[in-house]
Amino acid sequence: DWFQAKGLRNIVDALSKENDGLRIVGGAVRDSLLGLSVSDVDLATKLLPKEVMGRLERAGIKSVPTGIEHGTVTAVSDGKNYEITTLRRDVATDGRRAVVAFSTDWKEDAARRDFTINALYADAYTGEIFDYFSGQHDLNLGVVRFIGDAEQRIAEDYLRILRYFRFLARFGTGSADQEALAACAKGAHGLTALSRERIAQELTRLITLPNPVFSVQLMVDHQIFAPFLPELDKAAVERLPSILDREVQHKLAVSLPARLLTLLPRDQVIVDRVSARLKLSNRLREQLTNRVSGDLPTENNIRELAYRKGTSCAIDTAALYTNSNVFALCLKRLLNWDVPVFGIKGGDVIAMGVPAGPMVAKTLHLLEQTWINDDFPATDDLLTKSHQIVVELLSATK
Ligand code: ATP
Ligand code: MG
Repeated sequence: DWFQAKGLRNIVDALSKENDGLRIVGGAVRDSLLGLSVSDVDLATKLLPKEVMGRLERAGIKSVPTGIEHGTVTAVSDGKNYEITTLRRDVATDGRRAVVAFSTDWKEDAARRDFTINALYADAYTGEIFDYFSGQHDLNLGVVRFIGDAEQRIAEDYLRILRYFRFLARFGTGSADQEALAACAKGAHGLTALSRERIAQELTRLITLPNPVFSVQLMVDHQIFAPFLPELDKAAVERLPSILDREVQHKLAVSLPARLLTLLPRDQVIVDRVSARLKLSNRLREQLTNRVSGDLPTENNIRELAYRKGTSCAIDTAALYTNSNVFALCLKRLLNWDVPVFGIKGGDVIAMGVPAGPMVAKTLHLLEQTWINDDFPATDDLLTKSHQIVVELLSATK
């Protein structure tokens, strides 16, 4: 099991010569207390980063200073990465990044973490649990609780709002804490100060959980989306849970921007404004513009898109059309569909009588488009039909 893994044991032997110097912290402790599988193991230590790197080196374990100014060293041991971070306390914060000082006090380190369930430690040697803020109690009740005053902790780092809803979706079973929700609602304006990437990453992690819907519904109720997508009116946003539900049910990987933008009004001014604000990719922008113009993609359009640009692009596009049956069609046609490979090459065309030269590429292009329009017939049918087309083409050019 993960606690006895050779990679971890080697690190423990290298680092914890004195007692009480090294503990496992956060997700690994939390998840293993719940009997869930553990993939990432983070460690906390009283040792300073330099000392950590020195001892690892002497033990022949490779380490990388991945966040040395924040005290984090990544050890690569038995093929796995372990993040080892020196105990810290917050000294200042601007709502985006905390300024930290190193510490040797476990409780200080625990106090700067976000939720009680994320502030559990286990001694790296004995496995003894250290729980400074009743994290185990909350874990058993399915309660996500801020350490300290929710409003203040959110003002230190607004990303904690999105983390709250993510951990609520994952571990929440009891009713959500009204005070925490109110604090999230009150701080939501601060989300605009965060980088688009950090927001997108957190939202993606939330939305790819097995059951994010009740948490997203709470976000909608408390207007968490308002600061960065005010264009979503209440009625539209309320459709989100059912859209998510549908995707979760079908295990679809719709990209987050596409999913949120599904709910935008069909209005070019709004599309332009949102695209600029969220720095959307040209591809997404184009898809949104097509959606405004109102031409629904056909089933075949969607398959062509999957063939030319990949299934995920096709799913994103289909997901933009929530009010039509395109989505259902897309599902039917894309799920379990192995995107086919066009089976004709230049040599085949030449063998059919097309003279070598620029006409080969042109002919191939025409045959490929015909094959797509005919909904990707199998190679035998493709060859027969292609032969006919080439014969007609050649007789027409004579
Ligand atoms: P996951 O399984 O999703 O990775 P995790 O608990 O490991 O869960 P991480 O985002 O990897 O979550 O963060 C590791 C730990 O660092 C958390 O358990 C928490 O103690 C602390 N942490 C991370 N981000 C913050 C934050 N924004 N504010 C305070 N503490 C944080
Ligand atoms: Mg983690």
